[in-house]
Amino acid sequence: MTLPPFDLHRPRSLEEATELTERYGEDAAFYCGGTELLLLLKLGFASFGHLVDLKQIEELEGVRAEEGELVIGAAVTHRELERSDLVRTRLPALAKMEGRVANLRVREVGTLGGNLCFSDPHSDPATFLLVLDAEVEHRRGGEAARRTPISDFVVGPYQTSLGEGEVLTSVRIPELPRGAAIVHAKFAFHERPTATVACLARVVEGEVAEARVAVGSVGARPVRAPAAEQVLTGVSAGELDSTLFAEAGERAAEAAVPVDDATGSAEYKTQLVRVLVERTFREAVA
Ligand SMILES: Cc1cc2nc3c(=O)[nH]c(=O)nc-3n(C[C@H](O)[C@H](O)[C@H](O)COP(=O)(O)OP(=O)(O)OC[C@H]3O[C@@H](n4cnc5c(N)ncnc54)[C@H](O)[C@@H]3O)c2cc1C
Repeated sequence: MTLPPFDLHRPRSLEEATELTERYGEDAAFYCGGTELLLLLKLGFASFGHLVDLKQIEELEGVRAEEGELVIGAAVTHRELERSDLVRTRLPALAKMEGRVANLRVREVGTLGGNLCFSDPHSDPATFLLVLDAEVEHRRGGEAARRTPISDFVVGPYQTSLGEGEVLTSVRIPELPRGAAIVHAKFAFHERPTATVACLARVVEGEVAEARVAVGSVGARPVRAPAAEQVLTGVSAGELDSTLFAEAGERAAEAAVPVDDATGSAEYKTQLVRVLVERTFREAVA
């Protein structure tokens, strides 16, 4: 596998990046870590004469806390998130989830923005961010920035709601509700996850005051499972038994609409969702 030739551009601003994609049109593509795009080029599944490297654009870098939100630059790598002191302190579940994405080589260069923009259905961060009601910010050159909930950003396999020439600039994660715990679980046989489930539980005076369930990797895109959340909300923590989890797992699998693919059959993935919803929610409540 060899890379076909292309011209590499290294803009220092978003305006410059957009200008390049306007100049070269369909013959140009953005790239960041290149773990997805360069592989597609090597395999001959895509072809571009011009690659626009986003890594030199300062505003896509760094992790910061801003008005209660955790703001992550789109070009921040999985490895940076796994090791960030700010992330470990404010949202340790994010650091833990990131530490289990892919392998060290991919985590060192692959970015959060690249993961979301590529929109491979087998994504850990997409499921995790969905349970947190995260938003993404995106912009085209000097235009005003737009914010989109992650639930609307990931549209389907390899499809996002990003507009023509727009760059994903950051991911914004709201503060966790006080007393809430979040747990992310993945099940994988191959490089990418077969099933991902993230649950958030907030227990107040022994009762589940809030339950959130997100399921991904099994269907076309990650989804929240409101019917499963409803089953688990308002229940006393002591009454969370296998009958209730069987019901919640069933509702979550229905919402996710599992499909047959190289990582497993729809029936098998349905069973994985049932098991992972119980396991993750129990852990979040504990
Ligand atoms: C072996 C392997 C194992 C993996 N395992 C997992 C796993 O377990 N869990 C998981 O979730 N993922 C997994 N992945 C996916 C991995 O997380 C992504 O490959 C990586 O995060 C993509 O980031 P990147 O910067 O390399 O993207 P790139 O390849 O640079 O870009 C990907 C796409 O996004 C576009 N793009 C990138 N950044 C932006 C931006 N800021 N704005 C607009 N468009 C942009 C590019 O145009 C391109 O179309 C795996 C990948 C590999 C190769």
